[in-house]
Amino acid sequence: MKEQTRILQSIPVDETTGAVSVPIYQTTTFVHDYPGQHKGYDYTRSGNPTRQVLEKLIAELEQGTTGAAFASGMAAIDAVLRLLHLGDHVIAGNDIYGGTYRLLTTLAKRAGVETTFVDLHDPDAIEDAIQNNTKLLWLETPSNPLLRIIDIAAVSKITKKHNILLAADNTFASPVGQKPLALGADIVVHSATKYIGGHSDVISGLVVTKTEELGKEILFVQNASGGVLSPFESWLLIRGLETLELRVKQHSENALAVAKFLETHSDVKEVFYPGLKSHPHHALAKSQQKYFSGVVSFRLKDDDQKTAARVVTSTKLFKLAESLGGIKSLINHPATMTHASIPKDRHADFGISDGLIRLSVGLEDAEDLIEDLDNALKQVYAEIEEHQSV
Ligand SMILES: *Cc1c(COP(=O)(O)O)cnc(C)c1O
Repeated sequence: MKEQTRILQSIPVDETTGAVSVPIYQTTTFVHDYPGQHKGYDYTRSGNPTRQVLEKLIAELEQGTTGAAFASGMAAIDAVLRLLHLGDHVIAGNDIYGGTYRLLTTLAKRAGVETTFVDLHDPDAIEDAIQNNTKLLWLETPSNPLLRIIDIAAVSKITKKHNILLAADNTFASPVGQKPLALGADIVVHSATKYIGGHSDVISGLVVTKTEELGKEILFVQNASGGVLSPFESWLLIRGLETLELRVKQHSENALAVAKFLETHSDVKEVFYPGLKSHPHHALAKSQQKYFSGVVSFRLKDDDQKTAARVVTSTKLFKLAESLGGIKSLINHPATMTHASIPKDRHADFGISDGLIRLSVGLEDAEDLIEDLDNALKQVYAEIEEHQSV
């Protein structure tokens, strides 16, 4: 069976009632038959039937053994970092998600875990950064906001050689778009807030491990620190997974159409989308991803903050908001919004400039989305020219 069929068929029908939709077990506790004897569940933090359906599904989709659901993407990432001990060392990509950067440089550091940030496109830089106490390498691909692609299999060769765990944040590609565990990673995390939830209505995170041994450790952290996902929100993610492939396919198709349009636009200097032939890592993206996903970034020709602010407030269909992966299109100015917490002097590492705009291309008709962007650009640049000629 193909993956989409397998996933839909593996969502269980309720045994007691025949309900086709997974029941939401909105309960904190479960009755014991006898002290210490129960039907497999005793307390929802430790295990909940709705959450477990989700955890099994994501493990299957990511080709791992164990899944664990958390109350946010950051809680999921934190759970992985809790596998580390005082004195351990981490290597992380130099353009990872701002929240992960903050966690590594504050809370993990406070707990005695040091991080070196390196350009993961450079194998020599990775080798140079490895220390005797290096336990984990953290990568994210495609990256945010420039959609740079890291060769997961190539990085995993290095981590395997040195006995270092490899964790991949697979949020941007989604589990239908890319399989980091099959490419050599040991752990995958998702901000399920994005494509998996898919409707901008649930904050959530997922972890999948390749081995059962690592899975046990993550489930221990999940229960011990308690950042679990609620039964209702677990149900929302199961619902999201049912249509994930369909959505990601269409997000990708729409994003490619938008990216191609922007590439030919005279007011646009550069477009970043892994599905474009002009993207520097297009061939690699094609070989390790099934879909290129729905995020497109572009730089305006004058690369100016005021102009960018006018463009992002002139679109009508693209709503000005952070986040991505939802069915409705969003537009964002990374320098002042999603990436504002990153120190200005590090913006260049991320490829962020004042005229950079990031789109999360949704599921509206691509023609309408293109027209919306075209109108906004035309309006803003016409006003600028008028102003200059006065
Ligand atoms: C949003 C995001 C996170 C954090 O997830 P939350 O659900 O917001 O806690 C982590 N990594 C990436 C790549 C993200 O886009």
